[in-house]
Amino acid sequence: MPDHSRRGHGRLDRRDTPDSDMTTSRVVVAGAGTAGHNVATTLRESGFTGPISLIGDEPYLPYHRPPLSKDFLLGTVTAEALGLRSPTFYTDHAVATHLGAAVMQINRDDRCVVLDDDRSIDYDHLILALGASPRPLDIPGRQLNGVLELRTRSDAERLRGHLTEGARVVIVGGGFIGLEVAAAARKSGAEVTVVETNPTLMTRALSSRAAAHLAALHTTHGVRICCSTSVTALEGSAGRVVAVTTAQGEHLAADVVVLGIGVVPNVGPASAAGLRVSNGIVVDEYLATSDPAIFAVGDCANFPGPADTRIRLESIQNAVDQARYVTRRMQGHREPYDAVPYFWSDQYGTKIQIAGYAKTSDETVIRGTSEKFSIFRFYRGSLVAVESIDDPLTHLLVRRIFGVGGSVTPDQAADVSVDLRSVARTVAVR
Ligand code: NAD
Repeated sequence: MPDHSRRGHGRLDRRDTPDSDMTTSRVVVAGAGTAGHNVATTLRESGFTGPISLIGDEPYLPYHRPPLSKDFLLGTVTAEALGLRSPTFYTDHAVATHLGAAVMQINRDDRCVVLDDDRSIDYDHLILALGASPRPLDIPGRQLNGVLELRTRSDAERLRGHLTEGARVVIVGGGFIGLEVAAAARKSGAEVTVVETNPTLMTRALSSRAAAHLAALHTTHGVRICCSTSVTALEGSAGRVVAVTTAQGEHLAADVVVLGIGVVPNVGPASAAGLRVSNGIVVDEYLATSDPAIFAVGDCANFPGPADTRIRLESIQNAVDQARYVTRRMQGHREPYDAVPYFWSDQYGTKIQIAGYAKTSDETVIRGTSEKFSIFRFYRGSLVAVESIDDPLTHLLVRRIFGVGGSVTPDQAADVSVDLRSVARTVAVR
């Protein structure tokens, strides 16, 4: 057994087999979003009896983020209903929550974190679930009133008062936030324009075919989509935004501007502590950072992807799966992290689902009708991702196939007489 006597007990060393006796370990989770919440709750529910501290810089107990850009914006979901667990869960399960507190410093020598109120909390295992922050848009007028972003519950509460009948809403960024807010704003009767720098929408996640379908969907619902356009300035009057200027010189009148131009991973305390950082906190296949006592999970973690790539994923599935994996790893699990990426969105009741990871693809096959279909994306003959538009059954079957390491050939995908259920069954029993 390694000697942990100097700095606590049961700490995992990458060179050792995972330590199954961590009953007296002190676990500190930095970040109380989906990933952090899942680390703390899964660990406790798996029988771990040691102290768990969950630190979050927002003043709220962990909550569901997906409704923030959908039902919560529309006021059909209450703040209470957003909670991931009941308010008493954390005390009932001895998870010490430190809310409204940010981790400012990681002291790796003394194995403690220092919070912004100068409190210090000791750890044997530290899990960084620091999430990401909205990418700032560095243009004149950024500070005007009425220029908003959407990441937190407070952001959503600020924004929803502006989504009213006839309000002129300009959204900068045609990604997940931009398009979900566009759909909610249209539902509220606002006039909506989306400005996107790329030639297609949701480029980070979608093929051009699926993106074109989404663009048509939004146009049908009355959204003006301006792709291949950038915003050069936000114009104001009496301190409030009144218009957006584009690179083409167009002035778009605006009562509110929503910035949804992506996020940057929160790495500050990690890089200050000397952990490896490169587009996120760099972790190995076991989600351990360059310090084996520290893991990173969720939006802030940059982990090994297929074929020697490194990826950082921003999705609920990734946050939940990595959180659960880390709790198993701390308790002795030996296999590397391996999960199929999954994203979804809901716009005007249309369900968009993406499984797998396609940085690029050289062949696509479409299966289904013009309204409900799945796009199978292949790279060098291998299925790398599937995108489904209102086609949840196909999607479920492909996820099942992916989940057991199986695949579908382009011919199988194209041939509607091939029953994907039997393909899923066949690969499952192999
Ligand atoms: P995103 O990466 O999905 O989209 C950002 C978009 O902004 C991209 O299309 C990009 O090309 C565009 N863009 C970048 N700079 C621009 C500029 N200067 N002008 C115009 N367009 C510009 O990021 P997001 O939409 O901001 O979402 C933020 C985070 O929230 C992401 O992590 C996302 O995954 C998450 N989120 C996810 C969901 C979901 O999974 N359904 C829903 C909402 C938010």
